[in-house]
Amino acid sequence: MVDQLADPAQQPDPQNKNQPLSSGVSAPETYSVHYKVKPGDSLSSIFSESGASQADLHRIMKADVEYLALETLRPGTELKLTFNKQGEFQQLALDLDPARSLAYTRVEKDTFEYQETEQSTHWVSEVLKGSIRGSFYQSALNAGLSKTQIASVQQLLEHQINFRRELRAGDTFAVIVGHERTASESTGKTRIEAVSLERRNRTHTAFLFDDGNYYDQNGKSVLPAFRRLPTAKSFRVSSHFNPNRLHPITGRRSPHNGVDLATPVGTPIMSTGDGVVERVGNHRYAGKYVDINHGNAYKTRYLHLDKIFVRKGQQVRRGEKVAHSGNTGRSTGPHLHFELHMNQRPVNPLKADIPTASDVPKTALKRFERVAEYKLAVMSDAGSRSNLMLAGIDTQFD
Ligand SMILES: [Zn+2]
Repeated sequence: MVDQLADPAQQPDPQNKNQPLSSGVSAPETYSVHYKVKPGDSLSSIFSESGASQADLHRIMKADVEYLALETLRPGTELKLTFNKQGEFQQLALDLDPARSLAYTRVEKDTFEYQETEQSTHWVSEVLKGSIRGSFYQSALNAGLSKTQIASVQQLLEHQINFRRELRAGDTFAVIVGHERTASESTGKTRIEAVSLERRNRTHTAFLFDDGNYYDQNGKSVLPAFRRLPTAKSFRVSSHFNPNRLHPITGRRSPHNGVDLATPVGTPIMSTGDGVVERVGNHRYAGKYVDINHGNAYKTRYLHLDKIFVRKGQQVRRGEKVAHSGNTGRSTGPHLHFELHMNQRPVNPLKADIPTASDVPKTALKRFERVAEYKLAVMSDAGSRSNLMLAGIDTQFD
């Protein structure tokens, strides 16, 4: 459904009618089309229905190539398309969640620019407890954990325990789940902050530490190590990660959110960590691409591929071949564009602190022990399902 609404925020303020803006031009009148995404919608159909051109859609996809934020529009997402007085399309805006908004704004005749705005958020913690009756999965669902949270917990403990064979009825578990919130509401994002699984003669634990990694009670890393790069051989870096890259023609900021490796077409590309294939797609500018979710805040992305050997939902192991590199999409020559995301932010894959199966650094060990001890006490003291929201367990140790 399209409903055209004059956007009061975009109207010139009558109080200021005679005051020119700083640019010396009076505020242009604009109007906005609000569109709620329905199942089966495509951006192409939404643009047609809203009166924006396919050429502008392509320009927006070009601005989105370093983000791919428009690749999975969820039904229910509200889009706002803004037009100027002459009916020319100027901006696409949407909310990703209650804390994060995106806008693609025309900055030149043929160019749109991506902009993300983020409200400040904080984490509140909840303790969920249960005991094993049937499978761990069912017992954890009964305790109030979501499917994604259960997968994260299993990943954190899978090198310590075999969930199918070693659990017995009556074994108990406790999980601290963090919920991200703005000042007024939940963003829907959660994270596992601690887990403790008690069997008759052993306790298995994992704790999120302030370096973003997870460790057991003794400070040993529990997440499997990542490879630094997705190729077996090393290749020349043809373009570095650069959040402040300037566009060669427009001079505007145009981040490069990954690292480009000069791989010939057909080079085997491996997943850099264990994970689940989250997306497989073909984008006008990014070409054939794969996104892999490694759980617990890590994701990787591989662009301009030639052949893809995995499908959405498939589990992959570190080092498993997922694709051949290529030259698809708008690419200046054969290469692999590789991204690493931590906590939904692209980071430099060549330099980031990736899980390397190493332990808590000696200098941080005392602090880690205090955090672990405190979280263990919180989990053991909480009732069977504690709705008590604990403000910022982690921030108490900063
Ligand atoms: Zn690139």
